[in-house]
Amino acid sequence: MATRNPETLVIIGSGPSAWTAAIYAARANLRPVVYEGEPSREMIPGGQLMYTTEVENYPGFVDGVTGPGLMEKLREQALRFKTRIEQENIASVDFSQHPFRLKPSYSDEIEALSVVVATGARANWLGVPNEERLAQMGGGVSACAVCDGALPAYRDAVVAVVGGGDSAMEESLYLTKFAREVRLIHRRDELRASKIMADRVLNHPKIKVVWNTRVAEVLGYDNITGIRLENTVTHDFSDMDVGGLFVAIGHTPNTQFLNGQIDLTPHGYIRTPKAWRTATSVDGVFAAGDVMDDYYRQAITAAGTGCMAALEAERWLAHHGLGESPVLETAEAPVRLTREWEAP
Ligand code: NAP
Repeated sequence: MATRNPETLVIIGSGPSAWTAAIYAARANLRPVVYEGEPSREMIPGGQLMYTTEVENYPGFVDGVTGPGLMEKLREQALRFKTRIEQENIASVDFSQHPFRLKPSYSDEIEALSVVVATGARANWLGVPNEERLAQMGGGVSACAVCDGALPAYRDAVVAVVGGGDSAMEESLYLTKFAREVRLIHRRDELRASKIMADRVLNHPKIKVVWNTRVAEVLGYDNITGIRLENTVTHDFSDMDVGGLFVAIGHTPNTQFLNGQIDLTPHGYIRTPKAWRTATSVDGVFAAGDVMDDYYRQAITAAGTGCMAALEAERWLAHHGLGESPVLETAEAPVRLTREWEAP
């Protein structure tokens, strides 16, 4: 049973989408409360940017900014407008009644009139020695070529990409712009990727596919120096010198705590049925950032959808007489995008 008045807007998450939603909502006097989560072995509050060193493509930072530095600035900006922050996860939700009920990990259940889910997605890691340690310290291991591939360390280097799906193809092709050579390491003798993407990779002069191979260990102390490989057929081990390792074996959206109460896409991302909207299948619950986006996955697009979710929540609250802002009727988006789960 909740022990205090319902919150007007609860934002769950602590990446760029969550903080941007908080900035917009706080400036609209919605008095948002952000559940930013608590540090654990698997997750640090702040989202995936906490695993990135230099961010060079977030507009406004001419000389770049570190991932954690950017998150700190966004968090401070949200605090400036009196956003309240709770350092807990939301462990479970009950969206079957309104106000919604949310149970934080440790404290008492709370109620909320509206919710923005901005819990992100986590890159899957191989789980081999040295991998996450080097990723966290910017030592040449990354799960995002678009974020990190253009960094000086990878220019003219031999880099490895792990995976056989479309993400691995995309990362490999992207890296050819900077690297001298890209070695695509795949555990089977057949790619999972779409034919068109696979063909592009197989025909690219800078990409060499290493079949039937898994990465057993990342080598190097401060920086990656190579990878230890195991042939998945013969089980022979060998070492390969590389200046970077990009792990592209898929992402897992952080939706488990929703316990099936919101419609998800076939890949487990929150479904936002209307193009250019963040409303979910539950009236009053909005989704922003990587938890609803398996396509762009950029800090700036996450921030954009965070802004959209806050504006939609504000309008939804006003429409239901629950907030202070006027009802703003908007025209339907003039351009309809067809996404993976929508009929063309
Ligand atoms: P995915 O299709 O699930 O592929 C993951 C790949 O990683 C598979 O090849 C898998 O190997 C490999 N893998 C998984 N766990 C591994 C491990 N522990 N060690 C080594 N290899 C491992 O994931 P994705 O590539 O991220 O794509 C997800 C979805 O997004 C797909 O539907 C994809 O088409 C879509 N997508 C589309 C585009 C595009 O159209 N431009 C770009 C990116 C993603 P196995 O093949 O042996 O299972």
